[in-house]
Amino acid sequence: MAKILILGGGFAGLIAAKRLALSLDKSHEVTLVSPNTNFTFYPALVHLAFGECTVDDISFDLAASLKELGVRFVRGEVIRINPARRKVEIAGNDFDGELGYDYLVLAMGRRLATEKVPGFFEHAQHLLGVKAALKFGELVSAFRDGKIVVGMCPDGRLPVPVCETAFALARKFETEMNNGKIRVSVIFPGSLADAFGGANLHKELESAFERHNISVHYDVPISEISFNEVLSSKKHKIECDLLMLVPPFRGQGMLRGLGITDGEDFVRVDGLMRVHGLERTYAIGDIVAFSGPKFAHMAVGQAEVAAENIFAEISGEKPCTEYYHEIAAIIDAGGPDSIYLHYGVWDDSLYQLKKGRFWSWAKDSHDAFWRMRNK
Ligand SMILES: Cc1cc2nc3c(=O)[nH]c(=O)nc-3n(C[C@H](O)[C@H](O)[C@H](O)COP(=O)(O)OP(=O)(O)OC[C@H]3O[C@@H](n4cnc5c(N)ncnc54)[C@H](O)[C@@H]3O)c2cc1C
Repeated sequence: MAKILILGGGFAGLIAAKRLALSLDKSHEVTLVSPNTNFTFYPALVHLAFGECTVDDISFDLAASLKELGVRFVRGEVIRINPARRKVEIAGNDFDGELGYDYLVLAMGRRLATEKVPGFFEHAQHLLGVKAALKFGELVSAFRDGKIVVGMCPDGRLPVPVCETAFALARKFETEMNNGKIRVSVIFPGSLADAFGGANLHKELESAFERHNISVHYDVPISEISFNEVLSSKKHKIECDLLMLVPPFRGQGMLRGLGITDGEDFVRVDGLMRVHGLERTYAIGDIVAFSGPKFAHMAVGQAEVAAENIFAEISGEKPCTEYYHEIAAIIDAGGPDSIYLHYGVWDDSLYQLKKGRFWSWAKDSHDAFWRMRNK
C-alpha cells in the first residue's frame, strides 16, 4: 500500500488527485491538503470582475468532489516538509500535525510577491483571487472619467488576463473611450513575445488593441507605484486613476531550505516532473521553475505526467512519461478579435494562431465544460 500526499488543491493538485484515484486500486491512499475547501476556476476571474458571472458559477466544493473519488481531503496549510522522515507538517483547524507519505506532489502554486514593487499594496489592484477581482470590479463600476492602466509587473507571468481586462474595459466604456472621457492603456515589462514565452502574436494583438482604442506600452519594467503614477526602472512615469496589475510571481519560500528551488523559489524538476535531488517527489503547476508564462493547461498537463509516472513507480515500472512545455491559450476579446494561440515554448516548431469570434465562444464553452467534468 502506498501513501500519496498532494500539497495544493488548484488545477495541478486536483487533476493529479483525480488521475491517481482513477488509476490506482483502493489499497493505496491518496490525500490532498489545501487551505480552501472550494476550487476556483481562475481563468473566469475577469468575467467575475465585470459582473458576467457569479462566484458560484466559477467555483465548486473541492472536498465533496474529492470524497466522491475516494481521495482524503485535509483542510490545512503546509508549514514544513521533512524529506528525510517523509513527513509534512500541517497547520489547520481540522488537522494540526504531521502527515507521512511514500510519494509527495508539490502543487502549491505561486506566491504574489507584491512587496517587490513599493506602493503596490497601497495603490494598485489585481484580480488574482475572488476577493481581489470583486474589489476591482466595484472600482470599475464606480469609474466615471480618467485613465485606467492595466499591465504586468516584471516576473508577473500571466499576460492573458491583462489583455482580457483591457478588452473588457473597452467593451464597457466604448462610448466614454470614443469621446475621450476615459482612456485605457496596457503595460508590458518587455516585448509582447517575452510576455507570451516567445510566441509572435504582435501583429494580431496590436491591431485588436488599436481597433478598441487601447494604447499599449512595451519595455516598461514597473519599479514603483505612487498615488496616481506608475514609475519604471527605465524612467517612465505613467499617470493613472485606476490601476490593475499582475504582481511579480515567486514560488513558495518555505521550500527554500530543501535545496530544490531556484533563486525565485520555484522548484526545479526534470522532464518527468520529478524534483531534482528528492526521491519520490514531484512538482507540478505554477510552482515549477519552467520558463515562460504560467497557464492552467500547463498545470493540468504536468499533473497528468506526474500521475502517470507515480503510477509507474508504484507498479514497479520505470517512469517514462515526458512533459512537453507548450502554450495553448485563448485571449477572449469578447468578439471577432479573440485569439487562439498554440506554441511550443521549448522549441518554436509548433506555432498556430487563429483569430475570430468563434474563440471567444470556444473559451466560454470549454471553461464551462471543464468545470462540469472536474467537479
Ligand atoms: C485572473 C486569472 C486568469 C487566468 N487566465 C488563464 C487562462 O485564460 N488560461 C490559462 O491556461 N490559465 C489562466 N490562468 C492561470 C491559471 O489559473 C494558473 O496557471 C493555474 O491556476 C495554476 O494551477 P496550480 O494548481 O499550479 O496553482 P493554483 O491554482 O494557484 O493552486 C495552488 C493551490 O495550492 C494551495 N496552497 C498554497 N499554499 C499552500 C500551502 N502552504 N499549503 C497547502 N496548500 C497551499 C492554494 O490554496 C491552491 O489551492 C489565469 C489565472 C488568473 C489568476
